[in-house]
Amino acid sequence: MSFEDEYQVTSEFSDRTNDFLSSHLISPTPVNYSVIYLHISNENEMLSAAINKKLKQGVLITADFMADLFERYVSLTEQIENTVLAPFEKTLSKTLEQITKQVSNEDKAAINLEKLDKILAKTKTTTSMDNIVSYLFNTINSTKAQHEELSQKLTTTQQEINQLKDKLASSRQEALVDSLTGLLNRRGCDEKLQNLSHADTHSSLAIDIDHFKKVNDTFGHFIGDKVIQRIAKTIQSHIGEQDLAVRFGGEEFVVVMTNTPLAEAKNIAEKIRIGISKMRLKQRDTNTFLPPISVSIGIAQNDNISEWTTLFEQADTALYQAKNSGRNCCICA
Ligand code: GH3
Ligand code: MG
Ligand code: MG
Repeated sequence: MSFEDEYQVTSEFSDRTNDFLSSHLISPTPVNYSVIYLHISNENEMLSAAINKKLKQGVLITADFMADLFERYVSLTEQIENTVLAPFEKTLSKTLEQITKQVSNEDKAAINLEKLDKILAKTKTTTSMDNIVSYLFNTINSTKAQHEELSQKLTTTQQEINQLKDKLASSRQEALVDSLTGLLNRRGCDEKLQNLSHADTHSSLAIDIDHFKKVNDTFGHFIGDKVIQRIAKTIQSHIGEQDLAVRFGGEEFVVVMTNTPLAEAKNIAEKIRIGISKMRLKQRDTNTFLPPISVSIGIAQNDNISEWTTLFEQADTALYQAKNSGRNCCICA
């Protein structure tokens, strides 16, 4: 599709979005605009299904309903800033520009009328002329007031867009992070790996907690979660800023050590393993210490590897060997 075609389609969608909003008495806030835009442009089946269902029921579309759809379907849509919000902002700033121009014209007209009024006062002409002048004066002032109010509203909308952009940025960020540990989740890992070249030497660690089921069974899931958090912190404290620490699954972690050869990665893996085995976790309510926790670690380097999953599989195979070698140890692929 050429740029012009794309622009045509985009502006047709935005016209239809505006029509939809006004015909269904939905206020044109950035949230509502984005939701309806995605509906009109057929970008998301589930979102459209929800709206069509609502329309079929013949009930009013509420702000809460729209906010929920935004949260569920829009906030994570890639490119929403470019495809929806940017054109919306463009229309907004054009309208604001026009209104500002009108307000300034109205100011000029009011000044001219004032001059005319003074001349009329000097010439002491008939009151009918005075009436016309004051009528025009009032009309201009009330139009100007309306325009200023509109301009205020548009400025507020612009502020809402900015808040929305912040919200989008932070919810995208949240979607990449594991909420229990603050480490990257798999999705976050995939995203970060896109900036990493296979041409350079990187190593990966596959880390799994030993006999973790027993920790859960003995102390409960809540304590289990605390252990996972502490282990995540320990892993993070031993790696560099450019390295990726990922909660890969329940009690499994992956570390990608960027620009790090196998031997160096093994040193760090050992530090992580020892650090974890030295952790002393105290149960606050009973004032007792948990028995020592350990992890097993598999390590691999990305030699002749073109897929990250292959590297992770190799590290995982080494992890399996570490488990079979009695656990609480590190093994290189
Ligand atoms: P191994 O040394 O062979 O790894 O033994 P294991 O007990 O750690 O391995 P297994 O796979 O049998 O059990 C893993 C346990 O981890 C089972 C599951 O309940 C627990 N688990 C997984 N995710 C979480 C979580 O998010 N929180 C808690 N508390 N436990 C979890
Ligand atoms: Mg496991
Ligand atoms: Mg385990």
